[in-house]
Amino acid sequence: MGTRAREIIGMNVDELLALLNQAYASEWLAYYQYWLGAKVIKGPMKDSVAAELLLHANEELAHATLLVTRIIQLGGTPVLEPKEWYTQSPCKYDAPADPYVAVLLAQNIAGEQCAISTYKNLMDVTKDKDMVTYNLALTILTQEVEHEEDLQSLKEDLDLMVSRGDK
Ligand code: FE
Ligand code: FE
Ligand code: MG
Repeated sequence: MGTRAREIIGMNVDELLALLNQAYASEWLAYYQYWLGAKVIKGPMKDSVAAELLLHANEELAHATLLVTRIIQLGGTPVLEPKEWYTQSPCKYDAPADPYVAVLLAQNIAGEQCAISTYKNLMDVTKDKDMVTYNLALTILTQEVEHEEDLQSLKEDLDLMVSRGDK
């Protein structure tokens, strides 16, 4: 634990750690949702969409790494049990039960929108109180914003292809 690092935080550290752990649980669920989606995907443009899903999976895992590092730095205990990912995560896990590309894109777009809200909230809560976590949340938020747009743009391409293909 970083003693001085903890002292300079101008808010309740336990509350902050709870928020960091919730985001951490979400990242693992997002990782698995993307990773599995990339394996089971079916339908038009599946190869290009699968490549993006796999890239995002790895980026979500990198977010989990950033969060666990901060949790440990502040003397917290990261979520120890995978079964707690479900109960702690503010964003739900959407199983890729229907492997159709448009369904997977819609599920992951919803996931990104939830992630954007999570990091926006973490930034609001830490602003002027914990600059390190604020900066971390900004780094992750920047990537979640990119993820949302990547998927929405793929969805737009897919919709165009499907509608033009009818004519
Ligand atoms: Fe993420
Ligand atoms: Fe993301
Ligand atoms: Mg991307």
